[in-house]
This record gives sequence, C-alpha cells and structure tokens, in this order.
Amino acid sequence: MSDAATPGEFELIRRYFMQDVEHACSSDHVSPHQARAGVVLGQGDDCALLAPAPGTRLAVSVDTSLADVHFPRDASAEAIGHRALAVNLSDLAAMGARPRWFVLALTLPDVDAQWLEGFACGLYGLAREHDIALVGGDITRGRELSITITVHGDVPDDEAITRHGARPGDLLAVTGTLGSAHGGLRAWFDGERDEHHPLVAAYLRPTPRTSEGMAIRQMVSAGLDISDGLLADLGHLCDRSGVGARLEASSIPVDQALVASLGAQDALEAALNGGDDYELLLSLAPKHEDAVRQTLETLGGTLHVIGQITSEPGITGVVSTGRGWQHFHASEPSTGATP
Ligand SMILES: [Mg+2]
Repeated sequence: MSDAATPGEFELIRRYFMQDVEHACSSDHVSPHQARAGVVLGQGDDCALLAPAPGTRLAVSVDTSLADVHFPRDASAEAIGHRALAVNLSDLAAMGARPRWFVLALTLPDVDAQWLEGFACGLYGLAREHDIALVGGDITRGRELSITITVHGDVPDDEAITRHGARPGDLLAVTGTLGSAHGGLRAWFDGERDEHHPLVAAYLRPTPRTSEGMAIRQMVSAGLDISDGLLADLGHLCDRSGVGARLEASSIPVDQALVASLGAQDALEAALNGGDDYELLLSLAPKHEDAVRQTLETLGGTLHVIGQITSEPGITGVVSTGRGWQHFHASEPSTGATP
C-alpha cells in the first residue's frame, strides 16, 4: 500500500511493528530482549524461524476481528489493538498453552499515524504482559478495518486442556464473572464512551486467563474459553465429550455492576447467552476442586462451581423463553415465558 502521500508497507512495519522501535508508549512495548526465546529468525525475512521447547506441542489458533462486527470502529485504537490480541491469547489460555509468538495481518482503509500508534500501544502492552513476541506480519489497504492474528503457544506433551475430556460426575466451573462484556456492549450502544466504565472495559479490554490455564491444566478434565456465551460454549464442550450438563442457575456468577445496569433477569440472560466473556469454562473431578480454587486464588482469580456434568445429553437447569433463557423454576411450567 503506497502512494506519494503515504508511507509504504515496509515503512509502516518499520515504524510501528518492529520490536526494537520506540513508541510514544515505549514503557509498554515489548523490549527486544523479552519474549524472544525460541525465535531463531524474526521479522525481516520471508518467514520467521521458531524453535518450540523440547517436549512440547505447538498450539496454534487464528482469529479475525472486523470493524463493527467484532468491535465498534469508534473504540480507541489502543482498545482495538488490545482486544484483537486478547481474543487470540484466550484460545491459548483455554488449552493451557504458554504464549510464545504471533503474526499479524492488518487491513486498513487509510493510513492514520496517530491511530497506528495507539493500536501498536494496545497490542504491545498486552503482548508484554503475556510474554508473547510479534514475529511477522503484513499490512494491506482495504475497504474495512480488519485484524487477523495467529498465535502460537506451547504446552507439554499430553497436558493440553481439550474439550473432549469431560466425564459424568465432574463439576462444571468458571473463572471470573459472566455477562459483563455483553452489558458493556449494550452500554456502548446506549452511548457510553468511557472505556474505563467497568462493563465497557470488560467488553473492550478482556483479560485472557493465560496464567490460570497453564497453572490448572493438569487438574481439569476439559475446558474452553467462553466467547460465544456460556450456553453455546457449554454445548460445544458437551458435544465433544459426549455428555450433558445440569446447571445451577443461581450459582452463575454475575457482577453487581451488571445487575445494577440491567436488572437481575437480564443480567442472568447476559451471563447465559451474551458471549465475549473470555473466562474459562472447566470441568473437573470433585477431588480437584480445592486445589484448582486455591491455585486460581493465588493468581488473584476465582473459581465458581455452576453445575455438574451428566451422562444424559442436553443442558438442564435453565429453560428457553421466547427471548432467550431464564432461570428454571421447578414450580413453573417449563414453557412459561417471562416478559
Ligand atoms: Mg476459544
């Protein structure tokens, strides 16, 4: 992408995406000496050459974020950079993998130096926190802002958390609270533009549970990250494991700020179906509950048991209404809809 007035692709990469370039947010960018282990050859050649640690498997995942599909285009560039990497890191966390390297393909409708600076700050700030190195990329001009990131992690042989290991009798649990991101998106649609608003921040700047996934990977039987919503992702886990689940709706953790914003019923609805939480949904044998909880608390996190894995297929404990799902009340007919 180049014309007389705008810098070309190589110049943009040099300015904003080489790890030894100083940004205005230089305190947040990844130093060339951090997160570089295993990089035999980094940016500047046709491919990066990477060396995974002996005895590990490479965990690879790709996600595309599109303006006004996956994030509001009028969010700050820093938030967009943070979020694009966060959703990818969350997939590594879900597998219990250690983040290592990522590549970035960026499509821009125009070249805005200030926007790129902010985007790089958000991206590198999170990259530093999670010790992951940018090892290659590509910038093109296109009609819509689009960010595709491929992350690489490593996980010791046979220690990855998968979706297929849940067994009847296992506990179902989540890290953190659910629904806040959906509440944040609704607040954004209602005109809230303070990115530090707790619900908006939950949506725009999710925290990947990287350390948590690595620390508990040998204590859980299955897991995934909640991107589509608790019920949808629980469905994925049950399908892959050939099991069902019984939810205890009153145990589903919902942030008080969300209840204050939406009311209890809609807050529960957001927790069940909202998506974009990027917490981990886990199944674990009851004998591991205490150890998993203590491990998460040591890392500043929480564990909420929300139900149990069953041998009967299907998800029980909540019931569909015309507008989504609601807490199942045994005394009410299961078809009863709440307005
Ligand atoms: Mg995922």
